Amino acid sequence: MSIHTGTPSEQELAELRAELLRLRQDNEDDLRRARQALEDLTENRLLVDPSMREESTSAEYLLEDATTIIGKIDGALARMDRGEYGTCTRCGNPIPIGRLRVRPYEPTCVACSS
Ligand SMILES: [Zn+2]
Repeated sequence: MSIHTGTPSEQELAELRAELLRLRQDNEDDLRRARQALEDLTENRLLVDPSMREESTSAEYLLEDATTIIGKIDGALARMDRGEYGTCTRCGNPIPIGRLRVRPYEPTCVACSS
C-alpha cells in the first residue's frame, strides 16, 4: 500500500483535472455572458425599464458565482500540482472520490463544508 491510500489514483487525478479544466471553461463563458449582460443593462435602461433590475440582479449573481467557482478551480489545480489534491484543506482527511467527481473544486470534505 502506498501513502496515497484514500486519495485519488493517477488515473482519477487525470480525469478530475480534465473535469476541472472543462468547468473552468464553462464558468469563464458564464462570466463573459454576465459581463456582457451587465454592460447592456446601463443605468439609463434600468431607469427607463425597472423590470430590467431583475435581469441585472441575476447577471450579478451569475458573475459572483462564476468568479467564486473559478477561484476554487484554480485553488484545486494548484493543490493538484503540489500533490495535495483530494485531501480536505480543513481536517486533512481524504475527500471521497464520489464527492470529488460531483464537485471537484471543493477544498473540503462534506463534514467541514457545513
Ligand atoms: Zn474535512
